[in-house]
Amino acid sequence: MKTKKLIATVIASVLAIATLAGCGSTSKEIKFGTNAEFPPFEFIAANGTIGEYDGIDIAIAKKIGEDIGQTAVIENMEFDSLLVALQNGQIDAVIAGMTVTEERAESVDFSTPYYQATQVIITKEGSGITSAADLADKFTAVVQGYTGETCIIELGYKYESFKKGTECIMELVNSKCDAVVIDSATAAKYVADNEGLVIVEDSEAFGNEEYAIAVQKGNTELLNKINKSIEKMLSDGTIADLGDKYCGQ
Ligand code: GLN
Repeated sequence: MKTKKLIATVIASVLAIATLAGCGSTSKEIKFGTNAEFPPFEFIAANGTIGEYDGIDIAIAKKIGEDIGQTAVIENMEFDSLLVALQNGQIDAVIAGMTVTEERAESVDFSTPYYQATQVIITKEGSGITSAADLADKFTAVVQGYTGETCIIELGYKYESFKKGTECIMELVNSKCDAVVIDSATAAKYVADNEGLVIVEDSEAFGNEEYAIAVQKGNTELLNKINKSIEKMLSDGTIADLGDKYCGQ
């Protein structure tokens, strides 16, 4: 009896080692950098899609990993640090609701875009703000390094930058500023979660933006794999479904 048990254990261990060895050769990691402060694209959740991270981008990252045969892992950091971390090889790719801009494209390569967004204004109900021009004599909060900050700088209006979108929203809720300029889907999330806030759109002042994944400049091997996976997810409706799932919450 004892011998049988021992043999069974030995066989089990050999199988386990064989399985592990098999995993080792195929389960290389792909490290995605993000800033998990940008719902519905990335945020911290109790039971996330990858560890404690959840959102549209995190689900996309996981699927890319599956498509290219690598385990997707998330490195959470400040938005401003993402491109530097990519350039020095700390991460393999950035997925962070990142808008493709000419300036960013000078230092990294962008994938096929997977989402269209725009900047919008969040203000308090009854504030009288109905367009971007109305922000001229107001005080606006934006997030440091976001395209929303670039927009308000270009408009030349008074603003203050904060590290997180939630900090901007708190400033607005506490009447320390008059408006927040931030990406559309994230704005919708904040407005749904905070009573008394409204969204003001101004498509003349704020153009279309496209989100894409960034890789190191010249890393065409990874870029091609990512593009193939994204194009598949765009055509089979995966990304649209993720939008519905996370925006409808
Ligand atoms: N789309 C904006 C940008 O690229 C904000 C992105 C983000 O906060 N994750 O600057």
